[in-house]
Amino acid sequence: MSNLVKNPNLRSALDLTSNNTLKNIALILFVLLAIVYANNIQDKPSTNFQEVAVENKSISVEPNNSYKLVRGKQVIICFDDGYYSVYKYAFPVLNKYKIPITFALITASLEKGKKPREYASGYSFMNMGEVKEMIDSLGIEVASHSVTHRDMTKLSTDEIKYELAKSKRVLDSIFGQEVITFVYPYGAVNSRIIELTKAANYKLGRSIIWGEPNLWVDRYLIPIKEVRMSTSVAEVISHIKYHKTTVLLFHRIAPQPSYFTEWGDDQFKELIAILKSDENINFITLKELYREWWQDITAKYLAKKGWLPEKNPILFQKVDVDQTRAFNTSVGQ
Ligand SMILES: [Zn+2]
Repeated sequence: MSNLVKNPNLRSALDLTSNNTLKNIALILFVLLAIVYANNIQDKPSTNFQEVAVENKSISVEPNNSYKLVRGKQVIICFDDGYYSVYKYAFPVLNKYKIPITFALITASLEKGKKPREYASGYSFMNMGEVKEMIDSLGIEVASHSVTHRDMTKLSTDEIKYELAKSKRVLDSIFGQEVITFVYPYGAVNSRIIELTKAANYKLGRSIIWGEPNLWVDRYLIPIKEVRMSTSVAEVISHIKYHKTTVLLFHRIAPQPSYFTEWGDDQFKELIAILKSDENINFITLKELYREWWQDITAKYLAKKGWLPEKNPILFQKVDVDQTRAFNTSVGQ
């Protein structure tokens, strides 16, 4: 039975009295979900994100940890490529606060990782055991970053299909979660690659364009805020201040950054401590962002039909994302 209809509040609201009725209602609701998904997916109504009332507060960039940020922020931390430095320097910090991340892995590099070995080079990749340890400790979303990390705009259609499908198959089976996000190597993408990404059953495509994500308009070109050697903690905080949702992209963490995609371990610690001290900031993954968006579509549709009030927090409290996902697949999305 769907968790949706287990909710006692919803049950009483719908005056449900028997298990069969519950099953039928569950079925009807899921059919509705299919309809709304199929019909509304191409619509681009004004985003809900802009309707969220935010309280702007002044921001201090003094080194006194007194940053005050706008309410109800979402921060999505992405690490690309799967470098060992993430395990060595970022994982302990993330684990201290139990912060989820979206982790984009290159399957060929992942399979090369060997243990034991010293942290000798910033280019070392994590092995599967290390990735699994992070998954077990944190709410990690595994994303595909292809098999070989080649510029896909230079590949044939068959090669692109291989990069998309094989990496997904490998990651799905190794880590036991369905990968829904594809991260384009080097951010290199065009309309053909986007179409093939959709056809390979990815729900999201993440770019390296700078900006704020809005799944109504850029589900396969999700923009980011990249954190590089030249980026200060204050700059990251400032970006978060001015955006409802921020996707932070990191590659490697190092005690003494010497390459443009590295960021200092002390800076990372400082940033996370500051963000974590602000109760208005929620750390989520891209997969959770997708789930929220999909729930938003469904709620709008049901409200439009007059079947549920516009804002009904009860409805989605206990939706089983696996059922949602299976349902998406079943309607050919
Ligand atoms: Zn990469």
